[in-house]
Amino acid sequence: MKKLFLTFDDGPSAEYTETLLNLLDELNIKATFFVVGEFAKENPDIIREEIRRGHEVCLHANRHISSWLMTRKTFTEDMDEALKTLEALGVKPHYYRPPWGMTRRFSRYEAGKRRMHLIKWDVMAEDWRASTTSSTICKKILDRVFPGAVICLHDGRGRNCAPSRTIEALKSALPILKERGYVFETL
Ligand SMILES: [Zn+2]
Repeated sequence: MKKLFLTFDDGPSAEYTETLLNLLDELNIKATFFVVGEFAKENPDIIREEIRRGHEVCLHANRHISSWLMTRKTFTEDMDEALKTLEALGVKPHYYRPPWGMTRRFSRYEAGKRRMHLIKWDVMAEDWRASTTSSTICKKILDRVFPGAVICLHDGRGRNCAPSRTIEALKSALPILKERGYVFETL
């Protein structure tokens, strides 16, 4: 079976995530969300909605900061704060994707200690860029995927309403990928 793993970083976003969840429902696709703890705290209902609709919620960070700008102590506090927020929402993340994919020895160790696998991605579409278009994002996704690929997109942050272009791109790309025989699974 040709599987793809659709993942979204940097949410939840009050502006974009609901629209994305509706699109995924229409296409009956389940995805994995790598959420930012402080955004989850501001938008707990969106996290609940992600779970209710069968998606997987995983950890990105509490504040969207690189571990290279943190001490081990501030990193650990950040991670635990995010896990506390998620735990209150009934989420025990199994995967951790650090901001920009940047890790240090201690960040890998602390994630493992908290029973989370570190995961990066196989395919990006640079969907956060201010200058990109939805058709460029769509083309990059279609050109770059391969069976088993983990696709990294964004439903929060980004420049100039970036997630709205991501969602537009997916409206075109996802039906085409389904036609090509791909099935979508959570991690
Ligand atoms: Zn991020």
